[in-house]
Amino acid sequence: MKDLEKSMTYPAPKMFIAGVWRGASNGASLPVINPATEEVIGQVPVATEADLEEAVAAAVAGFKIWRDVSAFERYRIMRKAAELMRSRSQEIIRNLTIEQGKPLAEATIETLACADVIDWLAEEGRRNYGRIVPARAANVQQLVIREPVGPVAAFTPWNFPLNQAVRKISAALATGCSVVIKAPEETPASVMALIAAFADAGVPDGVINLVFGVPAQISEYLIAHPDIRKISFTGSTAVGKQLAALAGLHMKRSTMELGGHAPAIIFDDADVDQAAKLLGFSKYRNAGQVCVSPTRFLVHENVYERFLEGFMAVAKNIKVGNGLDEGTNMGPLAHDRRIPAMETLVADARAKGAEIALGGERLNSKGYFFQPTVITNLPSDARILSEEPFGPLAPMIPFRDTEAMIEEANRLPYGLAAYAFTSATETRALLAKKVEAGMLTINHLGLALPEIPFGGIKDSGQGSEGGTEALDAYVNTKLVTEAI
Ligand code: NAD
Repeated sequence: MKDLEKSMTYPAPKMFIAGVWRGASNGASLPVINPATEEVIGQVPVATEADLEEAVAAAVAGFKIWRDVSAFERYRIMRKAAELMRSRSQEIIRNLTIEQGKPLAEATIETLACADVIDWLAEEGRRNYGRIVPARAANVQQLVIREPVGPVAAFTPWNFPLNQAVRKISAALATGCSVVIKAPEETPASVMALIAAFADAGVPDGVINLVFGVPAQISEYLIAHPDIRKISFTGSTAVGKQLAALAGLHMKRSTMELGGHAPAIIFDDADVDQAAKLLGFSKYRNAGQVCVSPTRFLVHENVYERFLEGFMAVAKNIKVGNGLDEGTNMGPLAHDRRIPAMETLVADARAKGAEIALGGERLNSKGYFFQPTVITNLPSDARILSEEPFGPLAPMIPFRDTEAMIEEANRLPYGLAAYAFTSATETRALLAKKVEAGMLTINHLGLALPEIPFGGIKDSGQGSEGGTEALDAYVNTKLVTEAI
């Protein structure tokens, strides 16, 4: 750790309601833990119902102001927030690593990418065009207007504290909506920094409100609240289904970015060494706690041994440790719940006859570290082949027949990301048509850029949080037809 980083202090977690940084009205709080050291680094407020009501009232007032701010002015303020994220990045990166665990290099990418997302959505807000539909009668004009949907309730997780939050907040701001965001209690400082950047850039009080607390209590309260007009959630499929059902009950629009179990398909005509290298790095990024993480490695039997060797070479070289330490490639899991989750899946695979080719154990006596793990010889009923590990576990499955492999790729209810490596044009066309996923990358791994769609199908969710599609979720279509 450099000297400057050592001299910085972790900020006291606070909520942000109606432009004021504050604790819970009854003083309640929960500890925030550094997952690399298990030290308590702060206390995050636990919102009361009165706090939530204040946050909604602020969002209602904020919406009235923000919806009338011109698209150009909103863009100008948002671009300034992006610049503030960049100029403050050193401290933000360090705090992100301390509270979430990821190595500084990954925290750097996330922080700078966060600024890029703001820029893109700010720009898109200026292009939130409606249209004129030619009328049947000569004296009629038909206007299709895109109006902001209203105050939004957003729920974001701890794996990419900045990037999960910025997509929702920026799309809402770009369209003229206000927000109450329940950010992750595990990683409050990152989201606080993001919201401070927006506030300091000139977003008026009440437009963005930040709360923490008991997730189920907050979502039940906010989703049912008559003043909240839209829900956006990123997290597990199980919770997403509950929240989408609740949103449906109250006739609220919802965007759901949920779990995945991405197949990574390697054909025997692929550049196998390159595929092994790219997928090896990708699997252990953020300790595997990534919704689009490659998860079922489906490898043609002709190149299985070679792929496995290349992948294992990457995995063996991963240095696991405190994300603040130089040379660390993989940090701890973000919280203690993830360790038994990994151990259970490994034990199940082992008990069913699989071979743990690498890792498989908790590491160190302090911190939530888990070894980069590779599992082979898996029977089809191993739980890891159907359940999202959300951690550093890589199950390898050889295949021979392409049709059967595509069936396996599509077997699960998930449909988020899929990856393939092949040099054959006709195979690429086949995959593009047959693989059931919201996102498919072929011969490279290039997802989650602000300008391309990001979202899943089937149990992986609904709606898109990237590309030009990102604004759609935050606008209502209004038809105005007039005789002139
Ligand atoms: P979890 O399901 O308890 O929590 C996941 C996220 O949802 C957390 O941020 C949590 O605060 C929030 N949450 C949980 N219940 C909620 C509710 N009733 N209302 C509102 N928010 C709620 O699981 P976890 O142990 O924290 O994480 C493990 C699982 O979560 C993983 O298996 C993975 O599927 C999922 N997850 C997905 C993403 C993603 O990017 N899609 C991110 C983080 C976690």
